[in-house]
Amino acid sequence: MTDLHEVADNIFVVRQKAGMGGIKPPMNIYVLAGHNGLIFDGGYGTRHDIQHARKSIEAIQQRFEEQGKVCHIGRILPSHTHPDHFSGLKGMRKELGLSVLLTKKMAERITSAAIYRQSYADPEGEQGVFSHRQSGLRKFMHQQLSRFYYNKIFGVTFLSNPDELIEEESKIDINGETWDILSGHGHCDDHIMLYRQEAGILLAGDNVLRSITTWLGPPRSNLEDYINTLERIKKLPGLTRILSAHGSPIENPVERVEEIIQYRHSRTEEILNIVRAAGQKGISFHRLLETVYPGEGSMRRALVEGWVIVTIQYLEEKVRIRREDDGKTVRFVCTDG
Ligand SMILES: [Zn+2]
Repeated sequence: MTDLHEVADNIFVVRQKAGMGGIKPPMNIYVLAGHNGLIFDGGYGTRHDIQHARKSIEAIQQRFEEQGKVCHIGRILPSHTHPDHFSGLKGMRKELGLSVLLTKKMAERITSAAIYRQSYADPEGEQGVFSHRQSGLRKFMHQQLSRFYYNKIFGVTFLSNPDELIEEESKIDINGETWDILSGHGHCDDHIMLYRQEAGILLAGDNVLRSITTWLGPPRSNLEDYINTLERIKKLPGLTRILSAHGSPIENPVERVEEIIQYRHSRTEEILNIVRAAGQKGISFHRLLETVYPGEGSMRRALVEGWVIVTIQYLEEKVRIRREDDGKTVRFVCTDG
């Protein structure tokens, strides 16, 4: 018997289990069940994950049948193209006969492994500033390892032929109700969210999580976009509940979003203060990271450095800090020093 978790009227969550310690976090797939239903988020794509999702969805359909109600779930839409959100699309389409809905941006990204990898390539000139000098062999090992993890553990599967292209900032009919497709960039540059004012419910993907901090990192995260997304969520009329891609529902959405905005603000100030304290000679990225995470090994720092880079880029855009390049090292200098 598959457990059914109904988190709102006719909205069920399928919980994909965590694995491999923190490498594969637990993931929520939402099933908006009814006569013209939709699944929000693709989840993981291993055989096990797909079978589990299929069984859960069949159990939802069975419950509807027992209650004499029609349940047809024919569509699946991911929130964004991070591996835990799109990998299950192809398998779910095959298993459940779904149509895959994507925005144009998403469709371009997940066409193939090569194209997907390209979207993570460092922009010209940025590589030297933020990258750690790794030996060729270490880099190669690292790449092989992450490829292994992604393919085997996440079940990453690419998809070149979506069934329908949809627009950001548009509306979609789900079970006879109109939902807004809101763009919500920042964590990822193709992130969308689903909102229905009458129900007060936002499906926020990774943008707002109840108990953990949303990951940020280059090149597809942008701090200003993220703050704008959070500000927009805070102002959504009638918002009472956020359903997130990871963790349990958020019943105090405005408070939680405000908390995240304040947190990002304080971490931005922290970076600015470190740069300011370095005075006119400035500080390299490497030294800055050591100051934020003293005593951490380089592996650990490499895992958490994303938000620091995104915050530096934000402060540069705002002309709060600037770069000085002496041909050997790039240093960051505070503009109000
Ligand atoms: Zn994500």
